[in-house]
Amino acid sequence: MNRRQMLAATAATTLLPAALRAQTPQRLLLKGAEVLGIGPADVLIEGDRIAAIGQPDAAGAEVIDMSGTLLMPGMVDTHWHMWNTIARGMGQTDLGGFSNSMAPLAKIWTPEAAALSVQLALAEAWTSGITTVHNWAHNTRSAEFAAAEWEAMRDGGIRGIFAYGYPQDLKPGERMDFAALRAFRERFADTGTMRLGLCTRGPDRSEDRIWQEEWRIAREMGLPITSHVASDRKGGTLGNIARMAEGGFLGRDVQIVHATQASDEDFRLMAQHGSPVSISPWTELEVGYGIPPVARMAAAGLRIGLSVDNMVLAGNADMFGVMKVTSDLASGQTETQGAVKDATVLHWATAGGAETLGIADLGMIAPGMLADLVAVRTDAVNTAPVRTPEFLLTHAAHPGNVDTVIAGGILRKRGGALVGIDHTALLAEATRLMASLRRRAGID
Ligand SMILES: [Zn+2]
Repeated sequence: MNRRQMLAATAATTLLPAALRAQTPQRLLLKGAEVLGIGPADVLIEGDRIAAIGQPDAAGAEVIDMSGTLLMPGMVDTHWHMWNTIARGMGQTDLGGFSNSMAPLAKIWTPEAAALSVQLALAEAWTSGITTVHNWAHNTRSAEFAAAEWEAMRDGGIRGIFAYGYPQDLKPGERMDFAALRAFRERFADTGTMRLGLCTRGPDRSEDRIWQEEWRIAREMGLPITSHVASDRKGGTLGNIARMAEGGFLGRDVQIVHATQASDEDFRLMAQHGSPVSISPWTELEVGYGIPPVARMAAAGLRIGLSVDNMVLAGNADMFGVMKVTSDLASGQTETQGAVKDATVLHWATAGGAETLGIADLGMIAPGMLADLVAVRTDAVNTAPVRTPEFLLTHAAHPGNVDTVIAGGILRKRGGALVGIDHTALLAEATRLMASLRRRAGID
């Protein structure tokens, strides 16, 4: 390249809108980080994969200085109702608790509000080091809502599952709109990063003939299924996990969410049939489902994924905080320090969680794996000095320590700032729209 060409190339890069620059996969050399499970090493990324680790031949690669950071795999959220993100904090109002407060809002929700909520959720996901999500769209009021959320995920570049759902106020005896689901499937094929799934009310929240038909159609269409089961005290008494096992409705394709009040026998059946559980300790505590039985779930050998659930209750998408409370619940329940190892909880937040979503090549830093990586500062007042990387990640770090996020080889956060997202404009739009929805719903 001569000087003129070099100047032209520089000018082109500079003039390119930030959003577009952020979308271009590159050949990147991450230099000088401590790599989780490996130690000090450089990591070469080519396209969307990790190409080599150690001291790779990286001629021509863009070098990114990672000194002072610990490089971990991108974190995986396994259950997140992204559609209501702009309703942050609306879980308790003059109307009462979560259900009463959200019901009038859910009814007047719009595809625009759903899309904006997904965009805000994605901005927080990148900020917090979450690079894979399971978007649980349980206010799919029409195919337009689903399209708005799918497009927001696709355009935002996140990896994961979009779980197509139903309107919040659908009655237990009313069926989902399968014609709309099939038309949606025709319109939107799975991509390299996104897959369609089905979120259902399941046996706790709909009639047998309804949810069993949903299972049949999902399996016929090859969609993974997810449902909230045995979440609260009443749900725990229904015996639905045993009935699901008996009827062939559990399996590796069926994720059970919460199961806070499930019995040991329920956990044994889920483990036997391969159904993973997704737990969201913060919201399970906040909404009053009970104390998440992390120790019993681990003892039963369940496949476990962690989640933030929703911003209405959880407040934020801090997966570090989710790891910490998960770990410490198990210690408290067993009255044994370190009952569940830090490395185990870290596994649930990364490769283990990905595996529960059916994604195998994710969550570990090794050649050939997807290049979803998070660099956490090890020189902050709350992270230094480092005893073990596992303790740092599960007990010391918070999203403010996330320096750099790379997903599929693309930079999403660098130097603590989002790449390619105008977050000031996003927040202004979210604030404006939420105020107008609250006025329309008559909620202060
Ligand atoms: Zn949920």
